[in-house]
Amino acid sequence: MKSSEIRDKFLKFFESKGHSIVRSSSLVPGNDPTLLLTNSGMVQFKDVFTGTDSRPYTRATSVQRCVRAGGKHNDLENVGYTARHHTFFEMLGNFSFGDYFKRDAIQYAWELLTKVYGLPAEKLTVTVYIEDDEAYDIWAKEIGVPVERIIRIGDNKGSRYASDNFWQMADTGPCGPCTEIFYDHGAEIPGGPPGSPDEDGDRFIEIWNLVFMQFNRDEAGVMHKLPKPCVDTGMGMERLAAVLQHVHSNYEIDLFQHLIKAAARETGATDLENKSLRVIADHIRAAAFMIVDGIIPGSEGRAYVLRRIIRRALRHGHKLGQTKPFFYKLVADLAIEMGGAYPELEEAKDNVANMLKAEEERFGETLETGMKVLEAQLAKDATGIDGATAFTLYETYGFPPDLTADICRERDISFDQAGYDAALKESQELSRKGGKTHKDSKVEYTGEKNTFVGYDQLTFSSKVV
Ligand code: ATP
Ligand code: MG
Ligand code: MG
Ligand code: MG
Repeated sequence: MKSSEIRDKFLKFFESKGHSIVRSSSLVPGNDPTLLLTNSGMVQFKDVFTGTDSRPYTRATSVQRCVRAGGKHNDLENVGYTARHHTFFEMLGNFSFGDYFKRDAIQYAWELLTKVYGLPAEKLTVTVYIEDDEAYDIWAKEIGVPVERIIRIGDNKGSRYASDNFWQMADTGPCGPCTEIFYDHGAEIPGGPPGSPDEDGDRFIEIWNLVFMQFNRDEAGVMHKLPKPCVDTGMGMERLAAVLQHVHSNYEIDLFQHLIKAAARETGATDLENKSLRVIADHIRAAAFMIVDGIIPGSEGRAYVLRRIIRRALRHGHKLGQTKPFFYKLVADLAIEMGGAYPELEEAKDNVANMLKAEEERFGETLETGMKVLEAQLAKDATGIDGATAFTLYETYGFPPDLTADICRERDISFDQAGYDAALKESQELSRKGGKTHKDSKVEYTGEKNTFVGYDQLTFSSKVV
């Protein structure tokens, strides 16, 4: 089943259940200055859930373009490492604004997955919030899921991907338990069921999250029952496509295979399994759609997220031996794959390509020089990159520390984040006191030094894992 059919079937199913089909909103949230990028289907409905906005419908369904590459949800560093994470992805969702609740939401999800998409019920495992007996009973008694495949999950146990089945919009406001549906890709794939110590693996892949907004948490942390509970669900289109196309990884679905082949064509890579091709294929989607939605590469906030994504892709191209601009050429391939579903992409594709090309030209020399300096340092000491070197790479050559960290992680060598932070701080203090900073930069800055824009705005999470 192709992506277009998957989207179509989803929307039609919920339309048949009385939902209004709502178009995807922009990646730039229109109603929330604290959020860098739209990261789920509920973002455009946030004010409807809190009651400060209203719509002419109480049931909605959408296919929302999302980016998770900064801020609270950051999957940038999972790309290329897991079978299931992208920076950009499409979220299929259905929403109830004070209309139906747990019973209908669970029944709809089950009917759609097993009857419409035809997934074998025995491959599905579900989780419920540890205290949510109501959801547990619906799954066990009404749907008939065997109790061995209903797992109660508490709060996040601190694992990187750990399931956390209690959702909250913020410290105060609407919140409630979730129930999630996982697909078992088979015993040959490493990983355990949700809640188990090795749940981080790619065997049991979470496909759908159903959130039940049931409470309102006040300033004192007390939870009050909402008079009209709501439902917010999200299912990753690419994860569902992988299941329906009988492949394990999202990167094996038709859409990604075409982009990976295009990336191979433009970089000269011959091994289609190469991780760098996956990263490039992922990043062209995020970069192109962010530009479509009006973001321009820059040094702060979402503009900086875009720049980081582009530069990561270019570094992977460089790794594959491509030192000339190539990334922008993939926009045409992306438009073939996704221009039908997103006419705004088709319309803007030339502008998008031009902007990417300019960014590639701007960064080309920095990348080339930075890589040479980095390799020279690693020839002297192959165990890792110390903070001072990482800082020099950045300050003198304009080579971003997150790329240095990324390279270290890839090669399984150390990256001294604390040392880098200390060097940065020292330099900032020096310049605040009027001291000289590096004036003899070998590579001219283009004015986009990646000063940290604040941890609340953008998590600089380049720690080596
Ligand atoms: P995971 O635990 O796998 O990181 P999540 O719990 O963070 O996923 P949710 O916030 O519940 O994800 O989002 C709803 C759905 O969106 C998920 O069930 C999944 O199908 C999909 N999804 C989430 N993050 C990504 C991503 N980075 N790439 C592709 N699909 C994603
Ligand atoms: Mg996640
Ligand atoms: Mg999860
Ligand atoms: Mg989830």
